Amino acid sequence: MKPELAILVRLQGIDLEIRKFNQEKASLPEHFNALQEQLLSKEAECDRLNERLSEIQKRKVDIEDEFELENTRLARSQKKIPYVKTNREYAALQKEINEIKKANTAREDDLLAIMEEISSLQEEIKVKKKEITQNRREMKAEQKRIEELGAEIDAKIAILTKDREAVSQKVRPDLLSKYNFIRDRRGGVAVAAVSEGVCCACNMNIPPQLYNDLLKEEKIFTCPSCQRLIYALKVDKK
Ligand SMILES: [Zn+2]
Repeated sequence: MKPELAILVRLQGIDLEIRKFNQEKASLPEHFNALQEQLLSKEAECDRLNERLSEIQKRKVDIEDEFELENTRLARSQKKIPYVKTNREYAALQKEINEIKKANTAREDDLLAIMEEISSLQEEIKVKKKEITQNRREMKAEQKRIEELGAEIDAKIAILTKDREAVSQKVRPDLLSKYNFIRDRRGGVAVAAVSEGVCCACNMNIPPQLYNDLLKEEKIFTCPSCQRLIYALKVDKK
């Protein structure tokens, strides 16, 4: 292999490692983000429960007020009974009393149902709040993990970046910029071996004449299919 290419292969090894660490770092917040989404949906659910709770608490007060008013009206009607003079009047009064009683019984049933719903809502809210606290705790722990792992990765990248600087100084500037250009457009792989006439990066055949020239190692060639810098991989034949 031409020495310049050997250096580029080394540089590529370092770059691929840096790339791998950068990807690792970028994927660190995935779990945190999922937890955050869970938190948001739990908070929305809790808001919804609280809204429903205050809605029916208000409704309960209204029904209780109605109940009181109607009870007063009932007492007033009942007081009139001894003073009723005709059967018709009596029947009308009795009808009114029965209607009030019936309506108030319905109100009592409603109140019971509402009280049951209130207590089950309060229980649900309690559970939801616990979940939210737990969720926040997990997020905090996850945040810490991200920071720690992120710092570890940064340290590794810093060492590799130093190595990279040292190695890249050994490469001709024009070749280095060509390498960088291809690397950024070819998934981090700018230099590829050609084994038995096939480019190992794109798996395409190299024309025989080019392959012959490549074996002479006089120039640096690029793969006609993927444009990567190529070198012939020589296998010892025993
Ligand atoms: Zn290729």
